[in-house]
Amino acid sequence: MTSHASRVLVLNSGSSSVKYQLLDMTDGTRLALGLVERIGEETSRLSHTPLASGGAKREHEGPIADHEAALKAVATELAADGLGLDSPELAAIGHRVVHGGLKFTVPTVIDDAVLAEIERLVPVAPLHNPANITGIRTAQALRPDLPQVAVFDTAFHTTMPECAARYAIDVATADAHRIRRYGFHGTSHAYVSRQTAALLGKDPAETNVIVLHLGNGASASAVAGGRCMDTSMGLTPLEGLVMGTRSGDIDPAVTFHLKRVAGMSADEIDVLLNKKSGLLGLCGDNDMREIRRRIEEGDERAQLAFDIYIHRLKKYIGAYTAVLGHVDAVVFTAGVGENAAPVREAAVAGLEELGLAVDAGLNAVRSDAPRLISPEYARVAVAVVPTDEELEIAQQTYALVNA
Ligand code: AMP
Repeated sequence: MTSHASRVLVLNSGSSSVKYQLLDMTDGTRLALGLVERIGEETSRLSHTPLASGGAKREHEGPIADHEAALKAVATELAADGLGLDSPELAAIGHRVVHGGLKFTVPTVIDDAVLAEIERLVPVAPLHNPANITGIRTAQALRPDLPQVAVFDTAFHTTMPECAARYAIDVATADAHRIRRYGFHGTSHAYVSRQTAALLGKDPAETNVIVLHLGNGASASAVAGGRCMDTSMGLTPLEGLVMGTRSGDIDPAVTFHLKRVAGMSADEIDVLLNKKSGLLGLCGDNDMREIRRRIEEGDERAQLAFDIYIHRLKKYIGAYTAVLGHVDAVVFTAGVGENAAPVREAAVAGLEELGLAVDAGLNAVRSDAPRLISPEYARVAVAVVPTDEELEIAQQTYALVNA
């Protein structure tokens, strides 16, 4: 590789979308970013922001048939900014891959065997891995000479001890079907826990953190010395916290009940729990901004949805305090965690016995910077640390191809 190849393209391929960022890894600068949505429909949309040139966001609407066409459109946009995919300055493409099973514990350069293994995991990640595979194949076709790296959402959680990773079900059945707790949002939990140690001025290897990643999807993790000890998502991203549209933890017998008594099929129950539950199911809105607005107007359904969301969050803070034994910081991240001061305040309220408190003035400050929101006297720091999954994927990709 030539020494000036310092750019990494990060691709996050969903079933009908591709999110991308081009970064310069000499200093982590973002050169361009964008999103292709509604791939395969008549009304596909591409929005591209050429950050390097400071140019305005460009948007195009019109049919984009498949992922190959989407990536070609992205390549055209990048080329228009002098940042084409054929540039010798491009060092690698880093792909977000949702499920890496137990095999992929670290970022991995993709070859045929790696791709086959990601494909073997499709039964445990039917919604995500097929789209990731399509993204990888498409990128390989565009630049067959370039290292393509898979960065797995599950990798950070592979350090979980068996007692946290296993469900208490028949072992032979679990193993035959690879049923265990894998966890997701791993790049975010890794990045945010490390950044939190830096914020505290501590060595990550000696810092214990509870990370609360609260976006539309939400997960908590207990991280001891940089290693994940437990996380709230399980076999799939459905387990754990109350989310925008997902139920999080429920008694599994609810599903049998829905099948036997309500006559719902497995697919209908899947849709109910993943797409029509959580905050949306409880109050008709999944955006925390709208829920807060309704609460301000005295809406009781919105208030109850908020209370259920907070109750679950508190249970996880308590549980992970017990898992870790000693906690240096509780940290909030992602769309809700970074922006919703009332969520942070309510989640920590009443937890003084656990050493937790929030300073109302600090909590009210809006900022993009990592920051502490606990008062000086608090035994455990409470922090807000913006997540940056793309930067983490780019850094891991770049480190691997330069190793
Ligand atoms: P993410 O999945 O991390 O992009 O987070 C998306 C979610 O963040 C949205 O669904 C909103 O509920 C939430 N969010 C974004 N901005 C705010 C805000 N200012 N206040 C409350 N919630 C917010």
